Amino acid sequence: MKEIKRRIYETIDGMESVILAINDFIHSHPEIGNQEFQAVELLTRALAEHRFEVERNVAGLATAFKATFRNGDGGPTIGLLCEYDALEGMGHGCGHHMQAASITGAAIALTQCLGDLSATIEVYGTPAEETTSGKVPMVQAGVFDHLDVALMMHAGDRTTVDGKTLAMNKFDFIFRGKSAHAAIAPDQGVSALDGVLLAYHALEYLREHVRSDVKIHGVITNGGVAPNIVPEYASAQYYVRANDRQHLNTVLERVFNAVRGAAMATGTTVTIEEKKATENKINVERLNRLLLDNAIEAGCEKISPPRTSTGSTDFANVTHRVPGACLRVAFVPLGTSSHTEEWVRAGVSPEGHKAVMLAAKAIAGSAFDLIADPELLKEIQAEYAVAHQG
Ligand SMILES: [Zn+2]
Repeated sequence: MKEIKRRIYETIDGMESVILAINDFIHSHPEIGNQEFQAVELLTRALAEHRFEVERNVAGLATAFKATFRNGDGGPTIGLLCEYDALEGMGHGCGHHMQAASITGAAIALTQCLGDLSATIEVYGTPAEETTSGKVPMVQAGVFDHLDVALMMHAGDRTTVDGKTLAMNKFDFIFRGKSAHAAIAPDQGVSALDGVLLAYHALEYLREHVRSDVKIHGVITNGGVAPNIVPEYASAQYYVRANDRQHLNTVLERVFNAVRGAAMATGTTVTIEEKKATENKINVERLNRLLLDNAIEAGCEKISPPRTSTGSTDFANVTHRVPGACLRVAFVPLGTSSHTEEWVRAGVSPEGHKAVMLAAKAIAGSAFDLIADPELLKEIQAEYAVAHQG
């Protein structure tokens, strides 16, 4: 087994120029969610050249794809997921281009090293993680249901795995009032901005009296047009999060009441539009350990215990269907926050390149262990079955 893993690493090293060319191309051609056409073109071409069967428009998403490679008959099906969307106005501030490069490299290397081990390797291009959460419709369409395990990587300030992620809902609160001249006829106006401000305050009070894992945070996205016009339209956008969906739903009821109460108090109307919903991640310790062990074996640096403080990710929805884990691979100094210029710059730095190569090895190594060791896979699936119910 050690022998094959060494061959996987050597194969990945031999593909360094191809893998890093993918990394650098996507980095220098940043595309925001659902517009990642150049990235998809590049990745599907590379995979098709290496005997993957490519399917595009998966789950009706123009920039989602699936690429399948079958080795022998039967065996486990391992899903390798990657993102490639950039941040509007910033470029690759979350390192998603590194996922595209390392996952593609890992998948291609596996096809060349499996020998007579039967398995199916499926690469999934999952669009728009930052905006509309492409994995959510993919999960709803049942795209991942047949997988034995789903793996992905994400760049980070340390090498670790996500212990948990928060269930989350994102809303637009749209208030409508009635415009009027603010000096001549204020009595005829109803200020939508008043509705937003009162909702903001009500939610500030609510934030004090929730469980400590609950996060409520928002911004005002439209506060009116001019001081001399009573705003007839105003809006705010909020994220509400908690450790688990069940509890989050109880908090959402209180959030809605606060927002509706603000509308009633100000004589405005409010529409609550849900923009996105993600679930909390289902944690499988054995799978997390497998990823970290492989990260260590591959030579990743700054190994840390599983992250306990996290945000939310649409990958969590995938883990409600099949066992899944995400490896974070260090490429920036500890404490450097994502969605910053530092992350953008580091994405094509020597450290960034090194992280992409190490991630490819760690992911390919993990997939190989799952394929070569049926007992390990059984153990993971048994732990998942319990965690999923609990
Ligand atoms: Zn990200």
